[in-house]
Formats: sequence, C-alpha cells, structure tokens
Amino acid sequence: MRPFLLPFITLGIATPLHGQSSRLDAEVDRRAAQVQGTVVTWRRDIHEHPELSNRETRTAEVVASHLRSLGMEVRTGVAHTGVVGVLRGGKPGPVVALRADMDALPVTEEVDVPFASKVRSTYNGQEVGVMHACGHDTHVAMLMGVAEVLAGMRSDLPGTVKFIFQPAEEGAPAGERGGADLMIEEGALDDPKPSAIFGLHVFPYPAGEIRYRPGGTMASADAFRIVVRGRQTHGALPWAGIDPIVVASQIVLGLQTITSRQVDLTAAPAVVTVGAINGGVRFNIIPDSVVMLGTIRTFDNATRNDIHARVRRTAESIAQSAGATAQVVIDTTSAVTYNDPALTDWLVPILRTVAGASHVAVGPPITAAEDFSAYQRRVPGVFFFLGITPPGTDPSKAAPNHSPRFYVDEAALPVGVRALAHAAVDYLSAQPR
Ligand SMILES: [Zn+2]
Ligand SMILES: [Zn+2]
Repeated sequence: MRPFLLPFITLGIATPLHGQSSRLDAEVDRRAAQVQGTVVTWRRDIHEHPELSNRETRTAEVVASHLRSLGMEVRTGVAHTGVVGVLRGGKPGPVVALRADMDALPVTEEVDVPFASKVRSTYNGQEVGVMHACGHDTHVAMLMGVAEVLAGMRSDLPGTVKFIFQPAEEGAPAGERGGADLMIEEGALDDPKPSAIFGLHVFPYPAGEIRYRPGGTMASADAFRIVVRGRQTHGALPWAGIDPIVVASQIVLGLQTITSRQVDLTAAPAVVTVGAINGGVRFNIIPDSVVMLGTIRTFDNATRNDIHARVRRTAESIAQSAGATAQVVIDTTSAVTYNDPALTDWLVPILRTVAGASHVAVGPPITAAEDFSAYQRRVPGVFFFLGITPPGTDPSKAAPNHSPRFYVDEAALPVGVRALAHAAVDYLSAQPR
C-alpha cells in the first residue's frame, strides 16, 4: 500500500467550506434531486433483467449507452463485459474513480414486487433462477445517476472522474476469469490513473443510514483444499492400512483450535471453516484419500499469513502423526477490503453532511469478502455501506444479501447518489493546486 498524502487535511479544508466547492456541492444536490426518479427506473429495469457474472451484456449496454449519451469517453468489453467511462472536467485537477459492480446471483427471487426477476439461466451446469440478491442493480443505477449529475456540471469540475462498472464481483463461473483483478489487468486503473477510489454496498442497515470502518472493513477470503492420503484397506482391518477419514476428522477439529486457541481475536476477528469433506464409497472400505475444502477469513494481512501457516502446520502434522500425508493448497482469492485510514477520516464529514450526522456511524467488520479490495491494493480507497432496510423492519431480522427475499428500500438510493457524487467533487476540489 502506498502512503496516502492529504496535505489539505492539515490545512483544515477537508470539509469544503470555500465558495467554489460549496457552490459545487449545492449543484450536486440540485442535480441529484432531479435524477432521483430516473435512478429508481433504471434500478427496476436492471433488477428485472439480472445477469450472472461475466454475462452482464445487457446491463453493460444500458450503462455504456447512458455514459455515451452524457458525452463521456467510454471503453466497453473490459474484463469481458466491464464498462469504463471517463469524464474530463473543464478545469485541471486530479483523477478520482467511482466503482459499481453489475452481476446478479443464481438465486430464485421471492420478493413480491412488480419488477421481480423471472429470469432463469444455467450456472455451472445447473438450471437456476437469477436475481439481484446482493443489490448490485442499485449500485449500477446509483452510479449511472452520479454520472448524470457530474456530467451536467462538467465545465466546473476541477479534474477527472472515472466511472468503473465491473462484472463478476461474485466470482467468475468455473473455468473463467473475471472481476476486479481482470479489470485492473485490462487497464481500468490506467490512463488516466486515479489517486483515490470510492465505492459502496447496500446492506441491511436502516434505509439511508451509512456505516463505515477505517482499516479492514471486509474480510480476505481464501479457499483451501486439503488432500489427506492414507492407505486403502478393508473396513474390518483398519490396522492393515492408514485411515484418512479419521485423520481428516482430527484435522477438522485441529483447524478449529486455530481461531479458538491460537489467534488473538481481540486484535482482529478471523474464521476458519471446513465446508466440504469427500472420501470413501462404501461402508466396509477405508479409502485411500479424503479431500477437504474450506475458507479462511481475516481482516489484516499479518493475521492472514499467520493463519495460512497454522492451517498448513496443523493439517500436515496431524496427518504425519498417523502416518498419513496432508497436501494443503491455499488459493488467495480476495484480499482484505482495507479502507485507507486518512482517506476515511477525510470522507466521514462528507458522509455526515449527506446522510445527517446521526445516520453515519462506524460499522462492524464484515466477514464476507469484496473484490473492491483489488483496487484498494493499487489506489487508496474507501468502501462504505448504505442501509436499505425499510422503516418498520428490524434490520437484524431483515433478509440478508444473497437471500431470495433480499429487499431494497429505494428511498435510500438518493443518499447513495449524493454520497458518491459529493465524495468525487469534494475530492477534486480539495486537492491543492
Ligand atoms: Zn454478494
Ligand atoms: Zn455484493
């Protein structure tokens, strides 16, 4: 992570108070109010036409034609279906990026709204319903709204805003690549290169409220695969072989002591889960091998590396104690979603102004992962959460993201549009020139 220098913070103009930026801020609010209805229309259209990861062709077309209609430079086909729009302001200044993800999930919608998805598709060979059960439809619609707001004030913008519409946040289908890493590989952060990036995710907090967390906000997600090899034998003669099922069982319990006994959980939470064990075909045959699959979630890189080492040591040593072997492969899929602390400090007063001070608070760390982390490894960034649970529903009982009953109170969307638009405008305005 490169150091992030914010000299303007020490100058005390982090919250724009000067004539120029307060005028721009008023203009953002005026234009955001105008685009409010259209954002809801876009959201419903995208919600009704969800597309799985790396298949977001219709969504990408909707996005690209909108950005083109606003006069932006538009690149399509980035990381398969990604769209990158560049809005060059009329005045010189820095480059800031905003990101939305576009993909839906293999979930059959159970929400009773007129624009509910009836789409079906195949996912990894299985026939599935398709639904925007993670709310990426709202992310796309809100960022399209921000694009319209900022394009309308282009001549006054002191710098450039880059709009990144990314496919496959939920992960590419088996055998394919995709998502943030591929977007970056294919130049999403180049020419022009942003010096900061912002993004948001809808989440079951009270509608219109914002939660943020400096530092690690969402977990790293690493998939592991352990192959335990013993020696096949008759189920009645276990001493004639080496039983990998018993060894795998010991490894499951051993792995649980990593988070419960070995890692300092007061420093940062962590999770080690074994999600699959496969071995054996018959009641009276002890098999040759067992394959175990699992996931590791952490909130900082030191803990992450430490747990990786402990998973290997635990599996290998337990196997060795039985005369078996354990081969451990850890696939580092998503890094920690790490909010640059200085940039977060700078953003919070803006979020308070947008959502109301009492509606902005530090949120808990979230053990799900998010590939926004890939951008944050190259560019300081902040990823925050926008509440979408309607009044009258207890957020702790609301259907979570990925549920077939995940429901978005659209009253929250204008807050998201304004939060991202102000973040971009204030970032450009606050840079010393
Ligand atoms: Zn999701
Ligand atoms: Zn998501």
